Amino acid sequence: PIVVGIETSCDETGVGIVSGTKLLAHQVASSMDDHVAFGGVIPEIAARAHVTEFLPVLNAALDEAQLDLADIDAIAVTAGPGLAGALMVGVAGAKALAVATGKPLYGINHLIAHIGVGYLDDVAADLGNSSQLGALLVSGGHTEMLKINSLTSDVELLGSTIDDAAGEAYDKVARLIGAGYPGGPAIDKMAKEGDPQAFRFPRGLSAPKNMGTPETPGKDRYNWSFSGLKTAVSRAVEQYHLRDLPVPANDIAASFQEAVADVITKKTVLAASEHGIDHILLGGGVAANSRLRQLLTERTHAAGIGLTIPPLNLCTDNGAMVAALGAQLVADGVSPSDLQFSADPTQHVGIVSV
Ligand code: ATP
Ligand code: MG
Ligand code: FE
Repeated sequence: PIVVGIETSCDETGVGIVSGTKLLAHQVASSMDDHVAFGGVIPEIAARAHVTEFLPVLNAALDEAQLDLADIDAIAVTAGPGLAGALMVGVAGAKALAVATGKPLYGINHLIAHIGVGYLDDVAADLGNSSQLGALLVSGGHTEMLKINSLTSDVELLGSTIDDAAGEAYDKVARLIGAGYPGGPAIDKMAKEGDPQAFRFPRGLSAPKNMGTPETPGKDRYNWSFSGLKTAVSRAVEQYHLRDLPVPANDIAASFQEAVADVITKKTVLAASEHGIDHILLGGGVAANSRLRQLLTERTHAAGIGLTIPPLNLCTDNGAMVAALGAQLVADGVSPSDLQFSADPTQHVGIVSV
């Protein structure tokens, strides 16, 4: 099926078009430049930008695919989670398109779409060889280890962060060391100039009492915590300020990044090994992180687990991932959404489509 996917959950207005698992168009407009001065995404500004960008981005995607709306079989839109006002623009626009064209509409979960992008031909060579898929979702709002029994109907949560998401930790630490906003790419760049062993920052929830044993697993065996790490970075920075010494920002960035990548990859491989998962799809904005990509590649390889990492521009928010999940829903015969559905800012991974 030819599916248009629309994404407006945060600061990116994204429209993607797929034909089954083939990507035909991928257009994104970001309002990030308008938020930088505030050090965070301002919901009202993001929502207004979606109103302005909705039609231009949609038209650019149709142009890129050389299609008309009449050629489309279905429309998919992010229903949640995300910023309420931002989500509402995409959902209202998608409903209007569905009514105007008479095409079925799928309100989908943004988090599952971050994973579903891995099903595109350009991203994963062949998922058919895997007997049990898993996924690691690392984004601005979420850090979750998932077992994918069926992408469109049965996604099981194995573990998650109990406090900050990985991306959130990057953004907070970036503020502490003056790396700027958004923090992820800035720290990734600084870390390349620093020593990852300079500071030994904590790996949250890794103590024996948290982990338990394979026979009697602790309740946090596959969970993460990044708030202690953020506090440890804050204390380290403070020590330099107190003594009026220059903060070794690159070393702190590298050591922080090492701690994040280490604990995320260790628990991911453990959860996969203990749940018969033989292939992992990586998804979410933090999947753009160079050290995480490198260490996860090394550790999954050593454990004999396959790994799919999307290219950078399909890791951060986009419409192609929404279209990719929409096409899977159509292919699996899932019913379209009732047009009465609303945006759901707090939607969790248990709901794939509304
Ligand atoms: P969610 O998907 O949970 O709703 P979101 O859509 O806001 O949240 P994404 O767009 O998936 O999040 O990812 C944005 C996050 O990715 C930000 O926190 C950003 O700092 C982080 N990020 C982007 N590039 C990198 C990088 N190279 N290294 C680390 N983090 C990164
Ligand atoms: Mg974004
Ligand atoms: Fe996202």
